[in-house]
Amino acid sequence: EDALAKAQAVDVQGWKEGDPAPYAALAKAFSLIEATTKRLEKTSLLTSLFLLVIRRSAPGDIQSLLQTVYLCINRLSPDYIGIELGIGESLLIKAIGESTGRSLATVKADLKKEGDLGLVAMNSKNSQKTLFKPKPLTVPYVFTNLKEIALSAGHSSQNKKVSIITKLLAACQGVEAKYIIRSLEGKLRIEQERSNKRMNKERLAARLEEGANILKSVYSEIPSYDLVIPALLNAGIDKLKEECKLTPGVPLKPMLAKPTKAIGEVLDRFEGKRFTCEYKYDGERAQVHRFEDGTVGVFSRNSEDMSKKYPDLVAQLPNCIKESTKSFVFDAEAVAISKEGKLLPFQELSKRKRKDVKVEDIEVRVCLFAFDLLYLNGESLLQKPLADRRTLLKEHFQPVPLEFDFAKASDGETMDEIQTFLEESVKDGCEGLMVKMLDSDASFYEPSRRSVNWLKIKKDYLAGVGDSLDLVVVGAYYGKGKRTNVYGAFLLACYDADAEEYQTICKIGTGFSEEMLQSHYDTLKPLEMSKPRGDLKIGGAKPDVWFEPKIVWEVLTADLSLSPIYPAAQGLVDERGISLRFPRFIRIRDDKGADDATGPEQVAEMYGRQALASKSGKKKKDGA
Ligand code: ATP
Repeated sequence: EDALAKAQAVDVQGWKEGDPAPYAALAKAFSLIEATTKRLEKTSLLTSLFLLVIRRSAPGDIQSLLQTVYLCINRLSPDYIGIELGIGESLLIKAIGESTGRSLATVKADLKKEGDLGLVAMNSKNSQKTLFKPKPLTVPYVFTNLKEIALSAGHSSQNKKVSIITKLLAACQGVEAKYIIRSLEGKLRIEQERSNKRMNKERLAARLEEGANILKSVYSEIPSYDLVIPALLNAGIDKLKEECKLTPGVPLKPMLAKPTKAIGEVLDRFEGKRFTCEYKYDGERAQVHRFEDGTVGVFSRNSEDMSKKYPDLVAQLPNCIKESTKSFVFDAEAVAISKEGKLLPFQELSKRKRKDVKVEDIEVRVCLFAFDLLYLNGESLLQKPLADRRTLLKEHFQPVPLEFDFAKASDGETMDEIQTFLEESVKDGCEGLMVKMLDSDASFYEPSRRSVNWLKIKKDYLAGVGDSLDLVVVGAYYGKGKRTNVYGAFLLACYDADAEEYQTICKIGTGFSEEMLQSHYDTLKPLEMSKPRGDLKIGGAKPDVWFEPKIVWEVLTADLSLSPIYPAAQGLVDERGISLRFPRFIRIRDDKGADDATGPEQVAEMYGRQALASKSGKKKKDGA
């Protein structure tokens, strides 16, 4: 009732029960959200909006809520379907010009002044005299048109896009044009300022918190609002877990591992428990699905559909499936191999094209190494111990030379056994080992979690080089000398998933060839923003340009140090933040999204381990 009373804030005139949700209500909510910095208020405004949409929707109308949610997160489909917006500036300028009768030069001049195309569109619209009041926009109408824009491809698609955008803009009233344009740019985002998490939790009603946790856990198993929202509306939150289970065809968020620095750490964690060591293959993660109807799908770590990148894997898959195996989901690593079956490093795999690969053109051969089975013949196996999942994997699939094998494993328990297996894995071309709990509920598959029940030991850690970090590029500095036309150095950030904010961590300028700098420039230029995003904690960094956080790089560092400039992991180890010393670029991680970047806890852990290592090194030197 309280929420309903508050919901008046986002109500709009003329919205009657049974109507499709008016876009004006969404735009009103966005505008109020934009005007506040308070996290709770933002949440409350969204709650109000969703509540009104649910209350006013006609019986059986699920689309209104679903599409409202999608528009709020600026998406049009689940990640694995990958329908994306991100319309270029020039196309939008053309459409704004056409719908408001202004010249391109005027629109461009306004853009220079305002720095935000959404504002330019809104102001242009509002200063325009119109004879007739246009028919109000509805959420389903906007959503369908945005989808049509995103899906139009080919020769005449540019004109088609401009004409749909022009039509949408012509119908905009009040603040609507601002948000339509931001959605089209792919830049609409509800920003969360830094918040005091604990206080929020206390103030958030326990029941709401419980609901949010259920939803989060269900969503990590089946990350599709297309499936979760109808189930939520029909069955309610308490039955959601029963209704929404892992389904072949919908890639779940993968389980991840924690890094370790020494084998001793593994033994500390797993002492007295049964565990297994597996080769950590140096390839690309592949979640392989066979749906109930027999179709096959291969998905990346980031839930992207990779069937077009790996038509060879799709074609060779039937060879490894035993007859008793119908539907399944298994977790594997796709690794480049030579004709003789020698494992090749990731660099070889990255030579493959990412899209529209034809089997006959393939030069880099790929073998799948399966390490987990998550679903089999209609049943989810997530809540079974790893030992059982592995037995089922071996019973239902068979190795095929150069095509499919099980990840090589050893269930050794002593330090020596692990050391020997680690050396063997490195000799065979792997990155190191994955050590996994085998029994009890501690070995269940944990979607989307970086779990202590999966530890990784990389060969690099043992050499004392340290783990790499995956960081988001949030800014850049123009180059000097020969490099004035490209960015010469970059500002990187880690991502705090709890606070939903990026935190700058270091400036990086080494490890780049001239060609690389050019290619980074080409990729990053379209992501330039006139000001930093509100969810970026900047500290003292002063780059020349800011970027939409999107691109993730893997970076190595000599060591980590406390920093008065960068706010990464601030408050976890010290009042100061933590920065990287002598960071070096390793590669682009296009299998990771910005919110998969290394988190502040991991940064703090790495800093802590380094402090420990230097203490024990000193002890050794002192003869202690
Ligand atoms: P990394 O840089 O180590 O790949 P990441 O964040 O992508 O980091 P981690 O959780 O650190 O992922 O390491 C697990 C990754 O290692 C998996 O995503 C998978 O791609 C790869 N891998 C290779 N062999 C195995 C294996 N036997 N079991 C699990 N994962 C494996």
